[in-house]
Amino acid sequence: MNNSGFRWLVLEPFVHAVIKGDDVLLYNTLGKNYLLYRQNTGIAKIVQQLSIPENGYVAKLTNSELEDTVIGRFVADLRKKFMGDLFDPQCSASRPFNIVPLPIVKGGAIPMEQQLVEVTFQLTASNLPALKPYKEASRQFTFPVYTDSPEQAMPLDTIRSVAAQMKLLPVATVHFCGTGILDEPLFGAYNRIFGKTSFRRKYHVTLRQVAVPFTFSPGKNEFVALYITFPFDQQQLELLQQVLHTYPNHPRVEFNFVVQESREVDVASELISGLGIKHAAFKPYLNGSNIGFFEEQVFMSESDIFGSRPGRSEVFSRISMNQNDYGKLTVFPNGDVFANVNDPLLGNLNNLTVAGLVSRENEVGKSWKRRRMDVAPCNGCLYQFLCPPVSSYEIMMQRFNFCHIKQ
Ligand code: SF4
Repeated sequence: MNNSGFRWLVLEPFVHAVIKGDDVLLYNTLGKNYLLYRQNTGIAKIVQQLSIPENGYVAKLTNSELEDTVIGRFVADLRKKFMGDLFDPQCSASRPFNIVPLPIVKGGAIPMEQQLVEVTFQLTASNLPALKPYKEASRQFTFPVYTDSPEQAMPLDTIRSVAAQMKLLPVATVHFCGTGILDEPLFGAYNRIFGKTSFRRKYHVTLRQVAVPFTFSPGKNEFVALYITFPFDQQQLELLQQVLHTYPNHPRVEFNFVVQESREVDVASELISGLGIKHAAFKPYLNGSNIGFFEEQVFMSESDIFGSRPGRSEVFSRISMNQNDYGKLTVFPNGDVFANVNDPLLGNLNNLTVAGLVSRENEVGKSWKRRRMDVAPCNGCLYQFLCPPVSSYEIMMQRFNFCHIKQ
């Protein structure tokens, strides 16, 4: 034991600390390992001291504290996981200097509109009967909009105007979603507007609605997301086989299976392996009566959360933003614009510019900055920065615990 009567305990700046009551989580964002203490008043007090901003992740531990078995084991755990260490005050008489982790704040001096990176055009609102069972899907993931009202299509002038404004902004990806959008004359019209731009362009269409034969050939910057819905009938099987025959595992054509129950997951899995589909994904669809399916297949367990092993930038960006929504806008056929389609309307393109809409999201919007620490029950949970950002499913349901941790 040293003669100074105390030692400095220093926590590494890449460690993320969360304290809730007497529970403590320390997550090593480099090693992606963690220490979890439940109902441990002594350790919670030390981590509270470490976390006071002026203390800079440094706390004084007296010799008698260090002799305590629980604290001694805590220090040994920190050393073993390379999360912290003790320093002798004889080597560092004043408090050792440490860099406390701070959230990455996107923006700063950069004008707000320069944060816009992705725009989704919902080009149509369709009343096709085949889309009706999926009328809530466009609120959960990119999927054609269904309407009970007369059909709508976005006027080409609106698209032209947005495209011209986007060229002045750092938008990298444009999503086009709707029915008939890969068919002529619509596709030719979109292509005349966007064909010579450098935007990465992704077309989202349902397999049922593609024209037969499927001859669309994605160009260099183009991607196609096909959505396959159930029941999976002979018509869809033939279409799928034809698309796969035309584009055998094309790297820019992906197959999304929209699933509502475990049986559909099984059928989709058989199709994926039977047809040798490489670029496949599942899109769980919440239909209002299948929360049990989500509990079984989607809700996160503790092992899912730790198994996701988020890195430093992911953990710290979750302190200031929602990575699912940040920098993204969705435009509807009537010009209405949303930052997340489940949040209040930002405005309409008839009376606001794209830059003006981004400013509105910055000033009064909820989507880009929605963090788990702002919503219950996540705000009382140790895992609020380890869990993925709040999803559209959760915003739609106004239920922010798609997990098995806090029910
Ligand atoms: S309550 Fe929220 S933060 Fe906690 S595990 Fe569930 S989703 Fe994650």
